[in-house]
Amino acid sequence: QTHAAAEDRYERLAYRRAGRSGLDLPALSLGLWQKFGNDYPYDTQREIILHAFDLGITHFDNADRYGPPHRAAQQVFGRVLARDLAPYRDEIVLSTKAGNPISPSPYHKGGSRKSLLNSLEHSLRDLGTDYVDVFYHHRPDPSTPLEETTGALADAVRQGKALYAGVSNYTPEQAHDAAELLRAQGVPLLVHQPRYSVFDRSPERNGLLDTAAADGFGLVVYSPLAQGLLTDKYLQDIPAGARAQNSAFLKPDVIDATYRERAAALNDLAKGRGQSLAQLALQWVLRRPEVTSALVGASSTWQLDHNVRALDFPALTDDELKLIDEHGVH
Ligand code: NDP
Repeated sequence: QTHAAAEDRYERLAYRRAGRSGLDLPALSLGLWQKFGNDYPYDTQREIILHAFDLGITHFDNADRYGPPHRAAQQVFGRVLARDLAPYRDEIVLSTKAGNPISPSPYHKGGSRKSLLNSLEHSLRDLGTDYVDVFYHHRPDPSTPLEETTGALADAVRQGKALYAGVSNYTPEQAHDAAELLRAQGVPLLVHQPRYSVFDRSPERNGLLDTAAADGFGLVVYSPLAQGLLTDKYLQDIPAGARAQNSAFLKPDVIDATYRERAAALNDLAKGRGQSLAQLALQWVLRRPEVTSALVGASSTWQLDHNVRALDFPALTDDELKLIDEHGVH
C-alpha cells in the first residue's frame, strides 16, 4: 500500500523559481542531514518525510555523507520512496551531494571525476532511483581543477543520472567560475547551497547574493534556523532530545548569555508580529529574491507544520529589518 498524498498539497506553500532556470522549488525544502540515520526511529523519519510531501514540500535534500553512518539517510529515503512515494517520483525533486569525505579512501572525497561519479552511482542505488534531480559538489576542492569537477557534474547530467547541477559552500568567485564552466558545457548551474541565517550573514557580506543574481543560479540556503538556535526552544534550557543535546555539530556551549540575550530580543520582535522566532527567521532569509528555498531540518511533523506557516505573515518592515541587523551575529 503506497501513500495517498494529501490532495491539497499544492495549496499551502509558495513555489519559487531557481535563478534563471525553468525549475520551481518549494519555499521550504527538507534536508536529511541529522536524525535520518540510525540515531532515530525509522517510523518517525518516514512520518516526517510523508508529512513534508503532504505539505507541498516537494524538495528533499540528501548527501552520501548524511547518517549516521554515512549513506544511511539516503537508504532511509530510498525505503520511503520505494514503499510509500513511488507513484510520486515525478513530483519530487531529489537532491544529493558528493565530495565531502565519507571514508579514508582518496576516492571518497574531493572533487575528482572518480569521486563524484562513483558517489552518484552509489547514491542512486541507495535511493533506489534511476536519477536524482540535482547533483551537487558538496564543498570546494581547490586541489582539483574546477574543469574536472564541473565536467563530472555536466557528464552526470548528460548521462541522465542527474537533471541539474549544483555546488555547495563555494565562495562567490568559485561559484562564478563554476557557473561559467558549466554554461560553456550547456549545463547551467541551477543552484548553490550556502549557509545563511540571521546568525550567519556571510552570503550578503561576501557578495554571493549578487553573484547568484548576476550568474542566474538560485540559492538553497541551509541551516536557516541556525540548527534550532533561531527558534524559541533554547531560550531557557536545552530541552531533552534537542539537537544541542546530542549532536556533534551543535555544541551546548554556544547557548551562552550572549546567545540568550540576542535570541530573546529576536523572539520579542517575532512575538510582536504575531509569529514565532522560527517563522521570523525563515521569512527573513526568504525576503531575498536570490534565495529560492530555505532548507530546513525537522525532527517532528509539528516542526514542519509550524515552519511552513512562515510566509503567512506581513512582510518585514525596514524598522524590523534594522532591529534584526542589531541582534544578528555579524
Ligand atoms: P535548520 O537550521 O532548519 O535546523 C533544523 C533543526 O532545528 C531541526 O532538525 C530541529 O532540531 C530544529 N527545529 C526546526 N524547526 C523547529 C521549530 N519550529 N521549533 C523548534 N526547533 C525546530 O537546518 P539544518 O541545520 O538541519 O540544515 C538543514 C539541511 O540543510 C540539512 O538537512 C541538509 O540537507 C542541509 N545542509 C547542507 C550543508 C552543506 O554543506 N551543503 C550543511 C548543513 C546542512 P531538533 O528538534 O533536533 O533540535
